[in-house]
Amino acid sequence: MSRLGFNLMDLEVLTSNAKQIQDDVLKEILTLNANTEYLQRFLNGSSDKELFKKNVPVVTYDDVKPYIERVANGEPSNIISGNSITGFFESSGTSGGKHKIFPMNNNYFENMMQHKALSSTIISRHLHGAKQGKEMMFCFTRPLVKTPSGLPVSGALSSFFKSEYFKNQPSTLYTSPIDVTLCTDNKQSMYCHILCGLVQRSEVTSISAIFASTLVQAINFLETHWKELCSNIQFGHVSEWITDDNCKEAVSLILAGPNPELANLIDYECDQKSWEGIITRLWPKAKFMGCIVTGSMVQYIPTLDFYSNKLPIFSMIYGSSETIFGINMDPSCKPHDVSYTCLPNMSYFEFKRVDEENNYEIVDLVDVKLGCCYELLVTNYYGLHRHRIGDILEVTGFYNSAPQFRFIRRKEMVLSIQTEITTEEHLLKAINDATLVLESSNLMLMDNTCYDDISTNPGHYVFYWELKPKNVNGVERDNEVLVKCCCVMEESLSRLYRVFRSKDGSIGPLEIRVVQQGTFDSLMYFFVSRGSSISQYKTPVCIKSSEALAVLEDNVVDRVFSDKCPSL
Ligand code: AMP
Repeated sequence: MSRLGFNLMDLEVLTSNAKQIQDDVLKEILTLNANTEYLQRFLNGSSDKELFKKNVPVVTYDDVKPYIERVANGEPSNIISGNSITGFFESSGTSGGKHKIFPMNNNYFENMMQHKALSSTIISRHLHGAKQGKEMMFCFTRPLVKTPSGLPVSGALSSFFKSEYFKNQPSTLYTSPIDVTLCTDNKQSMYCHILCGLVQRSEVTSISAIFASTLVQAINFLETHWKELCSNIQFGHVSEWITDDNCKEAVSLILAGPNPELANLIDYECDQKSWEGIITRLWPKAKFMGCIVTGSMVQYIPTLDFYSNKLPIFSMIYGSSETIFGINMDPSCKPHDVSYTCLPNMSYFEFKRVDEENNYEIVDLVDVKLGCCYELLVTNYYGLHRHRIGDILEVTGFYNSAPQFRFIRRKEMVLSIQTEITTEEHLLKAINDATLVLESSNLMLMDNTCYDDISTNPGHYVFYWELKPKNVNGVERDNEVLVKCCCVMEESLSRLYRVFRSKDGSIGPLEIRVVQQGTFDSLMYFFVSRGSSISQYKTPVCIKSSEALAVLEDNVVDRVFSDKCPSL
């Protein structure tokens, strides 16, 4: 089968032969890389699977960083990869707080195209006509940065959007011309994405971004810019501050002269007291939203539901800078139930058991067990071997012989004051429970993060919340609801947390610090200024960097504490 499988038949073949394909992938990678400086140490030129499992160590990024940096600094690719390394992907750096660069080549883009094609087919089968019309897709790129040896460094998605693979797709697929995506000033790019989407509103059948948070940002942006957007449509002129020439020219062509009628209609909808359902009011033919809503993105589901009158959300892809991993075969399932079916031709995958103490077993893809949790290890085509991505996944089923996984959490995301370990999963559950309390109020949680504050005695958990009233002229914030949220969150944390908090008193009351609107945008721009790519940006579930904390602290407008101890 060609590496560019495009249809459901290919998917059947891929998932029915997972074991054979995985073995072939490993063989291919080892044959290619056996003589690299890195593998030579462990395999002596062999491409034998058993020897690989026995001798090649499971590694973290820090273990391979020196090798990667040597290539970035101009030494030959074959230190780590048999294939030539044509550039590096920079991971978003927001989850682990560390910047990482990963070697890449075009094979990643081919996999991305294959994934796109398969997703499209799955969606069309599920929702008839969904892929007719145009997609309003919020995608962004960053200015080119180069390694000392002149190789390009960029986020995986940014590189993909700049690649010929993406550019060569028919221009009729998207509302935005490619120049809007290629404009590296993200504010100009966001403005133009929305403007093009509004002008072509009657053709828009889907609205998408890689992550749900980007769609929420787009709505916030629309809220602050709709008057200007309407004026641009009314007079057929793009605002002066859109200074990127290519972008301005391409968008002007789409504007195609004054359209006061459309401007009035948009003005009317945006001027309503409540923005409930604004997405479906502005884009009435939209059949679904496409974006990742699993993992740390679950927190944006209520907000998207509110703004879209519960338009279906399809969360299709699970991947990272190291590899693309899986696809959602059942877009109709509830966002909270999404599992990703592993695509066995993307990389060689291994799984390290995490839910049993002292179980260090590492198994192949087809040997994972239903209901068990594993840490994902990746061996890819560009020089990473048995690499710990840092994600924990749970096996939820099988599609043919390919296992399906639910994303559980990032491995290193923990808060701890005493010896309790609060994982990303605990935190997301706590937030989810708190948003149920918020539902009865006029407030929506737009974004949040947290940290363990040990500067107080006893130390305590601090959550930063950006809130927004559901109605434009919302009533004053009711702090009692927020106190209740603090209590509910404490109730949903682990038993050990509750013991330290209620029995020992060695953890202090949980605190919510309300920040002013726009704070999380500032946080994002802080990370973007540090090299994160806006398309890949995910608000960190918890913050470790003191500089990032300072951005939040500067914007705190209120503090609320839990007023009772959680039950034991
Ligand atoms: P990056 O390498 O910066 O693109 O970040 C990749 C990380 O994003 C993954 O390792 C996951 O932790 C997270 N991620 C990507 N896709 C998903 C998904 N569908 N659900 C949950 N988390 C995801």
